[in-house]
Formats: sequence, structure tokens, C-alpha cells
Amino acid sequence: MAKNIVVIGTGYVGLVAAVGLADFGNRVIGVDIDKRKIETLKLGKSPIYEPGIEEYLNRNLKSGRLAFSTDIDQAVQWADVIFIAVGTPSREDGSADLSYLWSAAGTIADNVNSYKVIVVKSTVPVGTNRKLQEFFDKKVGKGKVSVISNPEFLREGKAVYDFFHPDRVVVGYADKKARDIMVDIYEALYLNETPFIFSNWETAELIKYASNAFLATKITFINQMANLAEEVGADIHKIAKAMGMDGRISPKFLHPGPGYGGSCFPKDTKALVHMGKEVGVDMSLVREVIRANEMQKLRMVEKAERLLGSLQGKVVAVWGLAFKAETDDMRESPAIVIINELIKRGAKVKATDPKAIENAKRVFGDKIAYFYDEFDAAKGSDMVIIVTEWNQYRNTDLEKLKKVMKGNVVLDARNVLDPEKVKKHGFVYEGVGRK
Ligand code: NAD
Repeated sequence: MAKNIVVIGTGYVGLVAAVGLADFGNRVIGVDIDKRKIETLKLGKSPIYEPGIEEYLNRNLKSGRLAFSTDIDQAVQWADVIFIAVGTPSREDGSADLSYLWSAAGTIADNVNSYKVIVVKSTVPVGTNRKLQEFFDKKVGKGKVSVISNPEFLREGKAVYDFFHPDRVVVGYADKKARDIMVDIYEALYLNETPFIFSNWETAELIKYASNAFLATKITFINQMANLAEEVGADIHKIAKAMGMDGRISPKFLHPGPGYGGSCFPKDTKALVHMGKEVGVDMSLVREVIRANEMQKLRMVEKAERLLGSLQGKVVAVWGLAFKAETDDMRESPAIVIINELIKRGAKVKATDPKAIENAKRVFGDKIAYFYDEFDAAKGSDMVIIVTEWNQYRNTDLEKLKKVMKGNVVLDARNVLDPEKVKKHGFVYEGVGRK
């Protein structure tokens, strides 16, 4: 049966959840403390770039099942089920900052007027859902609120698709009634034979961290193999392909590059190390992954310096600023470390990205020059570094590139170009893990 659902936080996760839950037939209100975001959403415009999101947004706004508001109190009173999708960024010490989550919990507690299910979609450290349940039991009385842990696994750039086609749905619960309400909400997925994992809160919370830490480890592993391949004259693509043919390994997440970034892997790996510390378990493997990933970003700059002799006074065009293709998200993007280091070593940076320029301006200000067109960025440059794997860079016009550049060096940190083809056009080419 359709439910009245409020989604608190309309960022990458909350917005996708709001439109997706409305599309399932529920009545949904997305709320946020960011007034500008809510005004934009009311107009049917997405504050983030995510393929397909505006189509779903407008379809559900028109149907009347979806609305947006800044009146969180009223929305909570109206709701049967409240999804929390606020940010949980890293603190200085690596632990997760839960201040947004607790602020949302406080608002909910002040407005409980009937039985509510609180669904925590934000990524939170083990023990948080139990603490939330204790908080509500104390504030509003036992049996008035049931907390559910329902971690999100969507990939930015494919978020809408992932919402409707998840590999699995994880539901951590203590109250059977709330568990059944979750099955009701996700009925379309449940009937579609999407696997559901039911567990206690702690297991659900750790599934999320374990998954992200494993993926970060897999990327870091192939990056280190790529570095070794480079030094010994091997080809990482053939290595990854052959490794991936082993069903136990799988070919996914074996693409070498400039290091992982984004809003999740960096903060979740740090939070996992911190969680281990708190209970006396040494998460040494994950700790090393974090360190190696930082080194990988710097390795790209060292390559650039070696290829150009020195970076002092050189003009470097950076193609791609977002942490990966098909998103405008710059959070923890490898481009940030790479560009800052290029500048530190004396280079002048001309940057381009199909979607992330506005966000990049907030990161770099006037330290770099911005171009909407990649050939404008490359004009007069000594080197082009490809940092994000946007499709438009894969089949770039090499003839045109050669004409506009001053130098002839291409550093392909995502291995999106065919080395032979690039070299044939007279470029000095270097990728990651292959020459
Ligand atoms: P985000 O920063 O894009 O969005 C968070 C939103 O919450 C913001 O719009 C903010 O204004 C709003 N907010 C903060 N406090 C609020 C409050 N008290 N009341 C109402 N709104 C409030 O974050 P995100 O990327 O969507 O991530 C949200 C959570 O989901 C994080 O815990 C993250 O780890 C997790 N997650 C993210 C992804 C991803 O790919 N982005 C994937 C899986 C899980």
C-alpha cells in the first residue's frame, strides 16, 4: 500500500530516493535545509547532474505524488515513513561527522505525532542506528518510532538506474512491523526478485562499509599492479583482462587510474579505520589502501614532471575535473590533488570538464583557468592530462589537438586513448600501467 514518505536531505542520495519512491506510487515530500535547492527542485530542475533525474523528477511532480518543502516539521507530522539521507562527511580524525544526522533526528523527535518508521539511508558507523533507537525511545516513548538501517549503494552517474535495479537491498531492523513496512515500500523490487538481506542494525551498517572498503582496495590493488607493470614493461590491460576471466576475481573495478575519489570511498575507508581503532581491531589493510591511494594521485604529477623535464612555467591542460564520468561531483576528486600539486610545482593549469566547472570554481577559485571546450583548454599547452574518463575524450580529434597544442605530450591517467594511434599523430604518450 502506498505510504506517505518524507526524505530528509535532497542531495545525490536523497533526491534519487525521493523520485524513485514516488515513482513506486508512494506520496513523497523531499525536504532540505538548503532553501535554494528546494526552490530549484520545485521548478523541476535538478541541482545536480545525474543522467535521467530530471525526467523522473518532472514526471512525479506532475503526477502530484512528489513535492518539495523546507517545512520539515510539518512534513514529519504528515509522514508514515521518514528516510534520512543527510551527509555524513569526515571529521579531522577520520571519523564520520554525524551532526547533520542528529540534527535531523532532533527535528523528527520534536514532531512525532503517530507511529513512524525512520529509515537511515546515510552511511553511518556501526552502532548509530541502535543509538538512534535509544534516543527516540527516550525522547518520544517506546513503540512510537522504529529505526531501520537501509544503506544506499547507488553509483553517481548511474544513480537513477541503480535505484530501480539494485544488486541487493539491505534492511537492518529490530522491529518486525517496520521490516514489513520496508518490504511494502520496496514491493516493486521485492516482486522483481531483487535480493533482500535482512539483518540486525550492526550487520547492515557494516555491509555498507565492507563493500566500499573492498571496492577501494580492488582499485588500489590494480593501481599498484599498474605501477609495477609500467616499470617492468608489462601491459596492465592484458593483466586485468586475464585476471578478470577468473570468476573468483571478476573483471569489474580493475581499471587503473589516478586513484579513487568521490564522496564515499575516501570518507568511508577513513571511518572504517576509525571504527576499528575504537574497538581495538587494526584495520591495517584499509589503512594502507588510503595511503597508497594518496600516493597514486601524486604519481600522476611525478609522471607529468618527468615527461616535461620540469613543470616550472609549463602550461598543462587538465581534461576532466569530476571524480568520475557522468557526474558533476568534485568531492575528493583526484583532480583536486593533481591540480594543486601541478600549481605547487610551477605549472599553469587550464582546466575543462563537461559538467563540473561550476563546482570546480568553488574548489579552485581563480587559481586556474576554466574552459567549456577541451580544445580551448589545450590551446597553447605543453601537455594534456586526462583525469576523468568522459566519453568525449575517448574519440578525440587528435589532428586538431596536435594543431592547437604548443607541446606534444599526452598523459592519459585513465587509459581512454589508444596509445599507438596517439603516438602515430606525433604525440609523446603515457598511460597508467602501459607505455
Ligand atoms: P549530499 O551532501 O549531496 O546531500 C545531503 C543533503 O542533506 C544536503 O542537500 C543538505 O543540505 C541536506 N541536509 C543536511 N542536514 C539536513 C537537515 N538537518 N535537514 C534537512 N536536510 C539536511 O550528500 P549525498 O552524497 O547525497 O550523501 C548522503 C549520504 O548518503 C551520506 O551518508 C553518504 O555517505 C551516503 N551515500 C552517498 C552516495 C553517493 O554516491 N553520493 C552513495 C551511497 C551512500
